[in-house]
Amino acid sequence: MNAPAAAHLRANGGLRPPGAGDIVNAPAATAPTPSAVESVESIEDVVARYDPVIGLETHVELDTASKMFCGCPTAFGAEPNTQVCPVCLGLPGSLPVANAAAVESTIRIGLALNCSVAAWCRFARKNYFYPDMPKNFQISQYDEPLCTDGWMDVEVDGQTVRVGIERVHLEEDTGKTLHVGGAAGRIHGSDYSLVDYNRAGIPLVEIVTRPVPGTGALAPVVARTYVTELRELMRTLAVSDVRMEQGSLRCDVNVSLSPKGSGVWGTRSETKNVNSLRSVERAVRYEVLRQARVLDSGGRVVQETRHFHEDTGETTPGRSKEEATDYRYFPEPDLVPLAPDPAWVQRLRETLPELPSVRRSRLAEQLGATPFEMRSMANAGVVDLVAATVQAGAPAAEARNWWLGYLSQKANEAGVETADLRISPEQVARVASLVSAGTLSTGLARQAVDGVLATGSDVDTVVADRGLRRVSDAGALAAAVDEAIAAQPGVAEKVRGGKVAAAGALVGAVMKATRGQADAKLVRDLILDRLDAR
Ligand SMILES: [Zn+2]
Repeated sequence: MNAPAAAHLRANGGLRPPGAGDIVNAPAATAPTPSAVESVESIEDVVARYDPVIGLETHVELDTASKMFCGCPTAFGAEPNTQVCPVCLGLPGSLPVANAAAVESTIRIGLALNCSVAAWCRFARKNYFYPDMPKNFQISQYDEPLCTDGWMDVEVDGQTVRVGIERVHLEEDTGKTLHVGGAAGRIHGSDYSLVDYNRAGIPLVEIVTRPVPGTGALAPVVARTYVTELRELMRTLAVSDVRMEQGSLRCDVNVSLSPKGSGVWGTRSETKNVNSLRSVERAVRYEVLRQARVLDSGGRVVQETRHFHEDTGETTPGRSKEEATDYRYFPEPDLVPLAPDPAWVQRLRETLPELPSVRRSRLAEQLGATPFEMRSMANAGVVDLVAATVQAGAPAAEARNWWLGYLSQKANEAGVETADLRISPEQVARVASLVSAGTLSTGLARQAVDGVLATGSDVDTVVADRGLRRVSDAGALAAAVDEAIAAQPGVAEKVRGGKVAAAGALVGAVMKATRGQADAKLVRDLILDRLDAR
């Protein structure tokens, strides 16, 4: 920031606690009518006649400690209307002051998306009435966004699709309306509505793509992959908790169809507040098929906003789309312009973390992982953990197996993120080395891991305390084998008579007697030797 602008910014940044975020308003829409759109034909049939054009507008709630234009806290889940003040309640005479940390996060997002950062820009008033917006206008950015003209590459089916970024701008979130008494939280049929202004004024970054043509039948997957990649980028930049289920990342999905070879772009629909990655893909697919049917039957696609229904995967009409002129935008007179100091922007550029796509190719090479394996690890959120385990000396395949398999399962059972389990990559690497040295069997290794998870002690302590050592000394096992045979004479007789498969019961008894520490193969050999069954 240059001096005059900086003087008007509060340095009140910092991260808000995990768990922050919000639930977006339930869309006010009528129930969807059953429709056979998805069964009419496949998207492959449609793209023979039409080119789908997609565009995405993504809102990201920033993780700043305080709101965009006042000092109110932003923690998620507080009692309604306890995190408010005259500024975010829009009381007469109150004045906004821009949050420096939010401006910084927005610039970092813009830089990571290869955008230009404006040398000078202003906030604008977007005028409209809605009960969750007490000022009757939203402070946003209009014709002077902070960041413009970037791009992000996404990989789909081995192809790279470059998604153009038109703009990245900063605005404030609205409050939250709760409709009481109606079905599914909708306004229709409700008895009354409550408004919570805790969310009003939380900094919101809007990221708008350019229209993306030419993706054909992959359009739904490209849309989903773009949002996935964007979410990963926000995580890497540590600017938002990007919890789609809490509304801290939400998407509006634009779709239009252009008759193939016509060069004419169709009218687009805008499906609002799509709140999961899967829903982004489904919403695009549904709109492509619906619009094709409208056009095929000689109809016109209406420019409108639509609501997506998670339960049916369908969209239904919302309001007809406003034009920008409906909002009577004008520069916000209560805020000074933003004029980021070029040296500051340069410093932010130089201190960007390694971006997800770059990191993925580096790790894929380091871990010798296929694209499929990389995707599995990314989906399970264990890429870093696997990389650190390999760094600590474990073979890549072992590290991957532990984190994707047993440890992911343990995290699931405990209802925590895999990264929050009480075991470090170094401990996992130690377990792997005990297995490859033959000290622990797979079963014992799992017991050792269970011990670490339960106590937080290190692996060697758990192994020593619990006596978890594989017994592979024939002499030490002989007594247990004799006992098992003596305890089940009928089984022993069968094995002697040639029914070798019956030996399983005896092996089981020995394993039980040795608390799983015996080498099962050796036990089996000893039993068969003792019964002359080999
Ligand atoms: Zn406030």
